[in-house]
Amino acid sequence: MKFAIIGAGVIGCATAWELLRQGHQVVLIEAREGPGLVTSHANGGQLSYDYVAPLADPGVFRDLPKWLLNPASPLRFRPQIDPRQWCWLAAFLKASNAATAKASTTALLQLSYLSRDTLHAWVNEKPIDFHYKTNGKLIAYRSPHLLEKARKQVEYQATQGSQQRILGREEAVALEPSLAQLGQSLAGCIYTPTEEVGDCYLFTKGLFERVAQHPAGTTLTGAKVLRFKTQEGKVTAAQLENGELIEADHFVLANGLRGHDLLKQQGETVNLYGLKGYSLSIPLPSDSAMPPGSPPPAPSISVTDYERRIVYAKLGDIVRVAAMVDIGDGNAEIRPERIRYLKHEVKNSFPALDVDRAQTWAGERPATPEGRPIISRSRRLDNLWLNLGHGALGFTLACGSAVLLHALISGRPAPIDPAPFKPR
Ligand SMILES: Cc1cc2nc3c(=O)[nH]c(=O)nc-3n(C[C@H](O)[C@H](O)[C@H](O)COP(=O)(O)OP(=O)(O)OC[C@H]3O[C@@H](n4cnc5c(N)ncnc54)[C@H](O)[C@@H]3O)c2cc1C
Repeated sequence: MKFAIIGAGVIGCATAWELLRQGHQVVLIEAREGPGLVTSHANGGQLSYDYVAPLADPGVFRDLPKWLLNPASPLRFRPQIDPRQWCWLAAFLKASNAATAKASTTALLQLSYLSRDTLHAWVNEKPIDFHYKTNGKLIAYRSPHLLEKARKQVEYQATQGSQQRILGREEAVALEPSLAQLGQSLAGCIYTPTEEVGDCYLFTKGLFERVAQHPAGTTLTGAKVLRFKTQEGKVTAAQLENGELIEADHFVLANGLRGHDLLKQQGETVNLYGLKGYSLSIPLPSDSAMPPGSPPPAPSISVTDYERRIVYAKLGDIVRVAAMVDIGDGNAEIRPERIRYLKHEVKNSFPALDVDRAQTWAGERPATPEGRPIISRSRRLDNLWLNLGHGALGFTLACGSAVLLHALISGRPAPIDPAPFKPR
C-alpha cells in the first residue's frame, strides 16, 4: 500500500521508517528545507522512558499562582484572548486530578517501553550516529520534603517495571562528581540507570536519509501540504503549495502543532496547544582548561534539576540544557529575558560552563491537555491517520508511536492498549 506522511519531524520520520520496514511504499512530505528543523531540532535530548508523568497533575492548582505572578518561574502562563488557549486550559485543569494523572502515566509508560524496545531494535539493525548513550538519569532534588514525596512515585513506577533508586547527597556525588558544585543545596537524587540520551535532530535526519535511500521511499522537502482532496469520506490526495497533488491509499498527519489546521479544514478538531520551551547548546570546556582537582564542568549522567525544571544532557562535545514551559506565547520566538534566566540558573549550578558561547533555541511542544499523544484514525476520514501531540516526550515516544500506528492501520493486534491514545 502507498502512504503519504505529512511532516518530517521525529514522529513523521519514525512513522515513515516503520511503514517501509513493514513493506509499504512511502512518500514523506516536509514543508521546510529539511527534516527535524522545527520542534525536533534542539530539544533536551532525553530518552526519558521512566519519566513520563504528565504536566496535568493535582499539584497544578498549588502552583498556578506562581506561574501567573513570578516572571522567573520555570513555568509561565500568559493569558490571551484566544478561545483555543482557554479551551485547552479548561481541559488541562479538568485532567489535573490524581486518577487521570495515574491513568496517563500508566499508558505513557507502556508506550515509552515499546519505544525503547523499538529504538533498540532499529539501531541494532543499522546504527544511526546521534550521540546515543545509555548513561542513566539523576533527578536532583534540593528539597528533602520533595525528595521524600518522590519516593511514592518511585514505588508506583516500580510496580510498572521501572528500575529506580533513591540516593542521598554523598552517594549521588560519588556517582556523578559534577553534582559537588550544587554543594549543600542538593538533598539527594532518584537514579534510573536505564535512561538514555541522544541528539533528536541527528536521529530524525538519520531516519529521513534511510527513507530517502530506500527503494520504496520518496522524500519531498520545501513541500507544504495546503489541504486534502476528499471524496466519499476518504482523502484522495494531499495538495501542495505549488498545486501538485500527492495521491496515496492512506495519509498520516505527523505535522505536530500544525496538524490542528489541516484537520480543522475537514471539520475535525484536536485539542493541541504549543508549550514553549528553550534550550542552550554549550560547548564543553577541554579538560586542560579545568583547574586540577576540580569537579567535571558538566554531568556525564543526564541530570534533571527538579525544582528548576532544567535538564542537562551531554551530546558529543556539547552539553544540551533544556527548560521552561511557557503557555500563551503562540510562537517559537526567543524571549531574551527567558534565556537570561536560564543562563543565570546554569551558571549558578555549573559555573565552569561558558554560557556566553551557548547556541540558543526555542520550540513549541505540541501538547494535548492530558499529556497523551493522539495515535488513531481520524474521526471523519477513513484513510487519514493521526500521530500528533507528543508534547514534552516526542523523542522518547516516537518509535513506539510509529509501531502502534502501524498495528492500528494493518488491523493486527496492537502491542499495547490503543484506547488512551484516541482523540478526546
Ligand atoms: C525545549 C524542549 C525540550 C524538549 N526536550 C525533549 C526531550 O528531552 N525528550 C523528548 O522526548 N522530547 C522533548 N521535547 C519534545 C519533542 O521535541 C517534541 O515532542 C517532538 O519534537 C515533536 O515532534 P513532531 O514530529 O510531532 O513535531 P515537529 O518536530 O514540529 O515536526 C513537524 C514537522 O511537520 C512539518 N509541517 C508542518 N505543517 C506541514 C504541512 N502543512 N506540510 C508539510 N509539512 C508540515 C514541520 O515543518 C515539521 O518539520 C522537547 C521540546 C522542547 C520544546
